[in-house]
Amino acid sequence: MSSSKSKVVDVHTHMYPPAYVELLESRKTIPLIRRFAGADDPRYVILPAEVEALEKIIASGDDASSSAAHLPGRPVTSHFSSIEQKLHFMDTHGIDISVISLANPWLDFVASADAGETAKTVSQDFSRMCEAAEGRLYFFATLPLTAPPETLLASIGHIRSLRYCRGVILGTTGLGNGLDDPALVPILHALAANRLPIFLHPHYGLPSEVWGPRATEEYGHVLPLALGFPMETTIAVARMYLAGVFDAVPDLRMLLAHSGGTLPFLAGRIESCVAHDAHFDGGSSGTPTRRTIWQVLREQIYLDAVIYSEVGLRAAIDASGGTPDRLLFGTDHPFFPPPRDGDAQGLWESVTWNAAAVKGALGEGSAAAAKVMGGNAVEVLRLYEEDRSGAGEEDGVVEEEEGDSDREGEVETVVATTKGDKKEEESKVEAKKVEEAKEEQKVTEEKPEKEEEEGKKGREEGRIEGGPVWSVLDMLGTQLGGFPSI
Ligand SMILES: [Zn+2]
Repeated sequence: MSSSKSKVVDVHTHMYPPAYVELLESRKTIPLIRRFAGADDPRYVILPAEVEALEKIIASGDDASSSAAHLPGRPVTSHFSSIEQKLHFMDTHGIDISVISLANPWLDFVASADAGETAKTVSQDFSRMCEAAEGRLYFFATLPLTAPPETLLASIGHIRSLRYCRGVILGTTGLGNGLDDPALVPILHALAANRLPIFLHPHYGLPSEVWGPRATEEYGHVLPLALGFPMETTIAVARMYLAGVFDAVPDLRMLLAHSGGTLPFLAGRIESCVAHDAHFDGGSSGTPTRRTIWQVLREQIYLDAVIYSEVGLRAAIDASGGTPDRLLFGTDHPFFPPPRDGDAQGLWESVTWNAAAVKGALGEGSAAAAKVMGGNAVEVLRLYEEDRSGAGEEDGVVEEEEGDSDREGEVETVVATTKGDKKEEESKVEAKKVEEAKEEQKVTEEKPEKEEEEGKKGREEGRIEGGPVWSVLDMLGTQLGGFPSI
């Protein structure tokens, strides 16, 4: 493995814990895991484009004669759920640390009443997996987005208490209406206040009609995965920007999958369209006060380096302000295994392409390349805090078994205070933390005053309206010390 100064970290790598596999195996509609007589491994079917093939084979009742190549979905191999396999994959590719996450579509399909408990079970599974590979694995948790608001907020209280959790993975649908939904803002505030960045990952792509009638039969998954996924991410972030979400939640930090979709390439066009649109500042003669999409990219957004080409990686670096500080290496394992009869236990081309792009764009062995390959992830996701013995509550970090209830209590305050039942004593304790955090921020954070002012202005202008919960969440964000420099 690499030295401590040049750790290689994979921030985009998925796993399916036992609780999730069981859930998928019990389902009759997508997403599901199903065994077919014609294939050794069970198949994982998630894409709407695969439903037709799935229904056809089920209706025929003859799945024994179908070769694996013609079965819907993808094989569920040991790469999906085995920690030993994950570690072997990491060792094979020289990866020191993986920040694992549940893959799409997460818990989007889970009934509201079950979502909270399911999310908790899945997070506990992830915790156990990370514990079993101490120092090698961390994880992004999954939120129960279909659950009632109180349950959802309580889940943030749960995951913030988990020792190995470093943020959440989130799809683009949010609570059902996308990420520009005002109802989602309190959740984003709670995540930001609890120093939980969002790893934004696509799943739904674009409507299948856009791929034309030949796509399903002739083009496999190429169009939805190569183009639908990146456009989905791009649209989601553009909607957040237009709605003023980044101003409304200035401490929010997001890591975008697949190098931000097409955002690095299209940011200029987005900026131009906004500047020329009367809905924004295109119709006024005064100096625009909004932050540009470029500023948001440089201040609140990180991009993974899962782009497979030097051309794309250079664009991502340029869009991030021309420095390598906001790019984080990833693999998308266990997806994109070696094609045809390739050796799944050997080197994966999908990984080596991404690593080669970093070397090509930044120079092999350079300090900049080392940042992208792992240095940035260590800083941004605080992976150096793996040994927290003795840290305890002093820095707000409490281990799951011992301190679960303490940290959950802080977030439960969100729920209580939104109902108008403020806990004075807790506020005093938190106020002390605020002062400490403020001192820390003075040293570590680059966030300008202007950013705060503009964020407030965006809210006042009504681009995002949050109702009375705003003042409470503003207070809470302050109490918890905001989001120090990631
Ligand atoms: Zn992925």
